[in-house]
Amino acid sequence: MPKTVALVTGANKGIGFEIVRQLQEHGVTVLLAARDEERGRAAAARLGVPFVQLDVTDPDSIKKAATWVDLAYGRLDVLVNNAGISVPNDENLPSATSIDTMRTIYETNVFGVVAVTNAFLPLLRKAPAGRIVNQSSEMGSLAYALDQDHPIWLVNNLAYNSSKTALNMVTLSYAKELWNTPIKVNAVAPGWCRTDITGGEGFKSAEQGAAIAVKLATLDADGQTGTFMEDQGPVAW
Ligand code: NDP
Repeated sequence: MPKTVALVTGANKGIGFEIVRQLQEHGVTVLLAARDEERGRAAAARLGVPFVQLDVTDPDSIKKAATWVDLAYGRLDVLVNNAGISVPNDENLPSATSIDTMRTIYETNVFGVVAVTNAFLPLLRKAPAGRIVNQSSEMGSLAYALDQDHPIWLVNNLAYNSSKTALNMVTLSYAKELWNTPIKVNAVAPGWCRTDITGGEGFKSAEQGAAIAVKLATLDADGQTGTFMEDQGPVAW
């Protein structure tokens, strides 16, 4: 039985792929989860890790993934809810945003996290020190959105930004429910990274963006729960 077992969603590329790679360097057995079988298997083969098919918007796929992990390992130590989608900023001003767009973004970025977390929670409870890390964004920070001197004030992407704000409350809600268990639940902001979701623009590489999620995924028993963190420290909610 491996020492620590982790699962990362949306890990066939970008920050998720890097989280898998870096957790592997920590000696963790990492399951690379992706919605697309071909892309996921190819990414898992590159790192020599197991692949798990998991579309966070598909209840059957989530159930099968949790059953597979239960049969293979009997528990899960670390869940990184990394999968996420967006739409281009210039197409997502509030007045131009359709309800279909809102639903699509929330299905993955918010409801997907709740569905995956609830499916894997029984396995996380079986681990000696479960960790849940939710991949949020500074774009979800209400404090930054209110601060007109902060660059994020300018980015008015209704569906994406509000989905990450909702994800922050989702994170806090699980942290509150689980505060008297060993399970720690935290949200992280990777910073602006050069991945497909940003059209390849950003200040950081995916490798640099992955570091904060890895840090929270490998917290000690006296580590924090219910926080929102970036590399430099706490992010204002
Ligand atoms: P990418 O677009 O490179 O990766 C997104 C990943 O999510 C892909 O693997 C994608 O799979 C997967 N995904 C999308 N929908 C689903 C789904 N329904 N089920 C399972 N997987 C899915 O972007 P990043 O790596 O940058 O993004 C990772 C996370 O980091 C996201 O949550 C994003 O919001 C967050 N983030 C990113 C920032 C950045 O600057 N890059 C900044 C702040 C937060 P597929 O290949 O099949 O599409």
